[in-house]
Amino acid sequence: MTSELSGMTLIAGCGVSGRAAARLAARLGIPFALLDEQDNDSLRTFAASLPRQPEAVFFGFRAQDELPHFERTVLSPGFRAGNPVRAKLAEVSDRLVGELEFALGSCGKPFVGITGTNGKTTTTELTAELFRAAGVRACACGNNGYAMSDAAIDCLDGKLDLPVVEISSFQLEIMPVPHPAAAAVLNLASDHIDRHGSMEAYAAAKFKLLGDPAANCVVNTLILDRFKPAGPEQKLYTFSANPPADFTLLDGSLTFRGRAIISIDKLALKGVHNLENALAALALLASVRGEDAVFDPAVTDALAKFESGPHRLERFLTAGCVQYINDSKATNPHAVNAALAAVGGDRNVVILLGGLDKAMDFEELAPSLKYLKHAVVFGSCGQKIAAYLEKQSVPFSMCETFPEAVEKAVAAASSGDVVLLSPATASMDMFRDYKDRGDQFKDLCRKFALPGDSSMEQTAKVRV
Ligand code: ADP
Repeated sequence: MTSELSGMTLIAGCGVSGRAAARLAARLGIPFALLDEQDNDSLRTFAASLPRQPEAVFFGFRAQDELPHFERTVLSPGFRAGNPVRAKLAEVSDRLVGELEFALGSCGKPFVGITGTNGKTTTTELTAELFRAAGVRACACGNNGYAMSDAAIDCLDGKLDLPVVEISSFQLEIMPVPHPAAAAVLNLASDHIDRHGSMEAYAAAKFKLLGDPAANCVVNTLILDRFKPAGPEQKLYTFSANPPADFTLLDGSLTFRGRAIISIDKLALKGVHNLENALAALALLASVRGEDAVFDPAVTDALAKFESGPHRLERFLTAGCVQYINDSKATNPHAVNAALAAVGGDRNVVILLGGLDKAMDFEELAPSLKYLKHAVVFGSCGQKIAAYLEKQSVPFSMCETFPEAVEKAVAAASSGDVVLLSPATASMDMFRDYKDRGDQFKDLCRKFALPGDSSMEQTAKVRV
């Protein structure tokens, strides 16, 4: 068996990205095998549906099972360090690579990369939109749900010219220095410290994206001190809501080196954080298409119309003159600060905080405390957050369950207030994911704020 499978690629982990990697391997026509710890009909149907069949499948795999030698294993992020199957795969493979590295190496096209603590999905989608408006066949992919391997297939099929790739620190950590045409580090704040070990290691993983001397770089001026150019020729655009920066806000407009691009009041996007995302997207466009491209009316029109997705400062209900906002995607304090800066007034926000900690520093919430009328705290790191709020004399309630937390928040709000789910944590202690958390929040708010009267619901879609 060992010799039969040598020179082969093993796709280890057949979740969303693993399945896309398998489709890509099949499209490339290279010999490959599949492995997963599970064995079920869905996996077997998937394997059978591939246009080229795997040479072998190892479904229901356990660390003690036998495996032949592989030239390369495309490893799912599900196999974390310490997982015995991962150790076994390292033993039998010449190289372990991530799905992103496999796909980027196969697509044969330049790409744009985007990382940062917050704003990756929004900026990736917006950047792809701006490139499309400028006439480039671009698409958002990577960590946002549309796997890079599927984008690579589109490149190989001649349907796509520029993948715009959202990249996480975990993906960057395990890959060699990538070679983007242009790339941005949006911002940096405490998050995922449990997995990276320290802020320095987390920052180093993010800045690896700018490690190719030929990559055009886009960096927020706030974190410029962490940027070490990879070579004397490396091109850099800075951006920030606060001048000075190449792309910044001046006199109510987004500007490039003093020249107005578009007035802020024309944008559907709201909140200073989203204006920074827009500045970064424009800088990426300028890096690849030239500076004139950002003034193209087709581009500014696309920018004006762009809205961020659900679960990001999503205003879904106004009832009894209280506004209800779902920001379940805020999984760290930095995102919470952005939310409160965008929607907070004078102690008018009842916030729901809590969930699964990632060894984060909740003291980073300090700039937001002035907006808080009351905090409702829940989830596995509730005690840690409560200890901080108590020290800062912020009124709070602790709740055992999420329905109880939402009911308390609704009861604590009065006319003119905002009830905001912006939890500062991951969701997996109580929910399937952030979408499940946000959806449950919306249902519970409707239940408690509109008892027996759904006619009071006013808006479903408007986002700040
Ligand atoms: P990511 O993909 O990095 O998680 P998203 O665009 O999905 O980013 O937004 C995640 C959360 O961060 C949301 O709560 C959103 O309002 C907030 N956010 C978006 N952009 C920024 C930014 N530039 N700075 C701070 N917070 C942001």
